[in-house]
Amino acid sequence: MNELESIRNIGISAHIDSGKTTLTERILFYAGKIHKMEEVRGGGDGATMDHMELEKEKGITITSAATTVSWGDHKINIIDTPGHVDFTVEVERSLRVLDGAILILCSVAGVQSQSITVDRQMKRYSVPRLAFINKMDRVGADPIRGLRDLQEKLNLNAVLMQVPIGAESEFAGVVDLIRMEALYNEGGQGEDLVTRAIPDDVLPFAEQKRHDMLESLSLFSEELMETFLDGKEIDEELIHQAVLEGVRSTELVPVFLGTAIKNTGVQPLMDAICRYLPSPIESATVFAKVVGNEEEEVKLFPDPEKPFVCMAFKLTDEDYGQLTYIRIYQGTIQKGDSLVNSRTGRKVRVGRLVRMHANDRQNIDSACAGDIIAMIGVDCASGDTFCHEGVDVTLESMYVPNAVISYSIQPKETAMADKLVKAITRFMKEDPTFHVHTDEDSGEMIISGMGELHLEIYIQRIQREYDVGLLVGPPQVNYREAVGRRVEFNYTHRKQTGGAGQFANVVGDLEPLDFGANGEPFEFENHVKGGNIPQEYISSCEAGFRDVMTKGPLAEFPIVGLKVNLRDGKHHAVDSSDLAFRTCARTALHEAIRAAAPCILEPIMKVEVETPVDFQGGVIGDLSSRRGMIAGMDTRDDMTVILASVPLAEMFGYATALRSSTAGKATYSMEFEKYAVSPKVHQDEVIAARAAAKIK
Ligand code: GDP
Repeated sequence: MNELESIRNIGISAHIDSGKTTLTERILFYAGKIHKMEEVRGGGDGATMDHMELEKEKGITITSAATTVSWGDHKINIIDTPGHVDFTVEVERSLRVLDGAILILCSVAGVQSQSITVDRQMKRYSVPRLAFINKMDRVGADPIRGLRDLQEKLNLNAVLMQVPIGAESEFAGVVDLIRMEALYNEGGQGEDLVTRAIPDDVLPFAEQKRHDMLESLSLFSEELMETFLDGKEIDEELIHQAVLEGVRSTELVPVFLGTAIKNTGVQPLMDAICRYLPSPIESATVFAKVVGNEEEEVKLFPDPEKPFVCMAFKLTDEDYGQLTYIRIYQGTIQKGDSLVNSRTGRKVRVGRLVRMHANDRQNIDSACAGDIIAMIGVDCASGDTFCHEGVDVTLESMYVPNAVISYSIQPKETAMADKLVKAITRFMKEDPTFHVHTDEDSGEMIISGMGELHLEIYIQRIQREYDVGLLVGPPQVNYREAVGRRVEFNYTHRKQTGGAGQFANVVGDLEPLDFGANGEPFEFENHVKGGNIPQEYISSCEAGFRDVMTKGPLAEFPIVGLKVNLRDGKHHAVDSSDLAFRTCARTALHEAIRAAAPCILEPIMKVEVETPVDFQGGVIGDLSSRRGMIAGMDTRDDMTVILASVPLAEMFGYATALRSSTAGKATYSMEFEKYAVSPKVHQDEVIAARAAAKIK
């Protein structure tokens, strides 16, 4: 096997608390990389992958660090994919560099909200997957229900590859349905995988599930189907081959069982990763865009001999400089190479290359296509493409969701301002959904992002990692403004002050555009014929129109969803200029918008609450009082999942409210759904609040 064939780049995705951190720890342990297993929560140093203080406290994994482990002949690069929906960009960025993933479910909770979000993203990137139903030792463990959830909630062709031996606290091991043998973990930490005959009481169930498995797999192999239908002995390799076909086409998700914390079922999962998930060679083809001509695409080959192309998917700041995690898509990188950053056109020299392990790093001299490693001391932004000189391609830009919430921040001590800027600059480089600007009127620094949690994390990181005390304003919704109807304009700008005058006239109309989630906020169309406005001034007109878009007439929020048609105009041979047309266009549009029934738009969030049925009525009542629209409900046993669309403005403090009204038994997640026109009463409140803030 050549080196490339032996690499597996995988991610592990899960709903919070399903056991992702614990499973990752166990994988690292069995692969011999760390020699002591640590409990994730409470005491000790915390898990090895969760290296940030804050993550340990919140118990969620925020950064996508990469770790390499060896398993048999294989090298597995584990890319840590964050599960929380507030960090979707981090998830998407890490998904791009994966060739496969493991989806972890809790055997009691089944498929939960974040699994659904992550599943959507996995489907968008066509990531082949295996599922692992964890926590088989818990009271109420029900792998069959987990399986059904995968099939029904995520619409996956999920097939059990194992059945459990015993249940809950009696859970002892698993039956491998391919070899029809029982697997037990023995030794102090489950390091010895022992094979025995299947216990009699499990055999009938195992036989039935093997039958189901073979039936499902026969769709991926004609030979298997024939042998199966003929009722003949089926060769083990033939079954593996069918699973492989199914997984790689993303049409099959084989399901494995175990309990990470009790060290059961982890090694068979690791074998399955190597056996079924694709190597970089077998992974889907990657295309890059040509710099300067984004229409043109070139295919990248995971071939060490071809020109070098890689993508930076994760940055971290270390004492000795920036650590940049890269996925190599083509060619080979050598220490000392000179690379070009496709976004900036700047040349960089690669001083040091390292391979990351959980708690140490190994210096390396080179790495080739398919691998995931890190460069030290190269300055860049996350998502940047690097190539050898003359290659000039860029990997497509990613889908970046809207920033819907802002906070004003300032250092408690002015002397800390420099450190604050340093922190902010770094976070902006790492995260395209984290924005910072200075408010023109108040001079305050404003940070914006995807949700309360998203920004709270950065606020805390500034305080902890950079030791900068902050004064933080209340959360603010990022409203937008839009127009309600079409309006025509005909405006003349004329100024005569001694010397050269200014003259321009523009005629046209504006119309509302769909301001959908990803809609273009502004369109400009030039219909001027016969040189009434000379060509050289058209771009000045467009610039003047664009100037207006940054501040709406109601409360100075950016305007979205507007199209301007420039239809006619007049100019003067001496007095017309770029400035005259720009000013003219600006005033014309400004006035036209005031007449076009302007309104305030507010971000609407898709909220999903999972609550015990007992609290269902209260949760729904509370969501409705927050102007929420209930979009759906799904009750299973004693839990209900409620889906609702709720204005972000009403969601502040929801985490606390939900916790106290459900005795901490409900969980929720939310993500941006769309902008929508706010009710008149709320618009008036927003306008009044902005006006009051300005006077202050
Ligand atoms: P993550 O949030 O998905 O990373 O989950 P963690 O690995 O932090 O685990 C969440 C909690 O579940 C922790 O308290 C773990 O000790 C516990 N846990 C993890 N795996 C198992 C398991 O197999 N069985 C049981 N009963 N608990 C587990």
